[in-house]
Amino acid sequence: MSEPEGRGADWTAFVPADPPQGRGTSDEGRRRVKSAPEASGTTEPLLEVRELTVHHGQLRALDRISLRVFPGEVYAIIGANGAGKSTLLRTIAGLHRPTGGSVLLDGQDVTRVRPERRAARGIVMVPEGRRLFGSLSVEENLQVGATYARKGPWTIERVYELFGWMRDRRTQRTEQLSGGEQQSVAIGRALVANPRVLLLDELSLGLAPIVVQRIYGMLPQILATGLTVLLVEQDVSQALRVASHLQCLLEGHTTLEAVPSAVTADQVEAAYFGLNLQAGSAPAAGERSEPLWPGSTRSSRAS
Ligand code: ATP
Repeated sequence: MSEPEGRGADWTAFVPADPPQGRGTSDEGRRRVKSAPEASGTTEPLLEVRELTVHHGQLRALDRISLRVFPGEVYAIIGANGAGKSTLLRTIAGLHRPTGGSVLLDGQDVTRVRPERRAARGIVMVPEGRRLFGSLSVEENLQVGATYARKGPWTIERVYELFGWMRDRRTQRTEQLSGGEQQSVAIGRALVANPRVLLLDELSLGLAPIVVQRIYGMLPQILATGLTVLLVEQDVSQALRVASHLQCLLEGHTTLEAVPSAVTADQVEAAYFGLNLQAGSAPAAGERSEPLWPGSTRSSRAS
């Protein structure tokens, strides 16, 4: 079996996301609004990250990041290149060891739990770049995903029902598939592990907008089976379309936590680019002035 392409041997992690309470509120530009425990009918988060700090060598990639994701929620992490989004997801999956802070699943501290054990407990990632085994068939890749599976509604058959084209092409090598098809297999591989929390890292990367829409269009069917989703997106409009809660990172720091409907496009842009935005002010010279996503205006709501 050849290794999936990309950095690190982290494929075990894909098999198998209210502002944080009691956290400092003084950071400028951070917005604290209520999350969606009411959406799930519970006040306890399914996934919680507390004051997570992660270093890559000397680089502090994440600096005391906290988040609480409630059952049934879609929580989106946005941010520019290098903001630390993937580092956050990979640390939650157990692929990076934090230098501070903790990760809790259903109130249990899993910070020291190995990636495959986290997968077996329900934290499953669809990694950036998909990281399929290209020389293996569609079905073989799905079988890999079932290695650490929990009991639950998702089977390979169910994945074939979700992605109508997949059953007929189950013997095809995944390296022969289009980018969108590969992404679907990567999602299917995560689903057959029956995750409680599905971590989605940049699903839209390298895909045509129509393909991205089609893939995100599957989300309601996936959520209907009881999953909770924490996703990372550079495509802000896409993230805002699906998220019930949003956190923006910039150089490893939280610059915004919000319910999308409670923030303006200005605020999201300011958080994304680190602008010190005053109400009604224009960006300074050299700062970006065009809309961050199609259809946004500088005073429109972000949802
Ligand atoms: P992108 O959208 O470009 O993937 P990101 O927001 O996901 O960006 P990360 O990939 O988490 O950001 O990277 C955060 C910082 O950590 C960047 O400066 C990056 O260069 C660095 N980094 C990430 N992974 C490693 C690694 N394995 N070794 C060293 N530095 C790393």
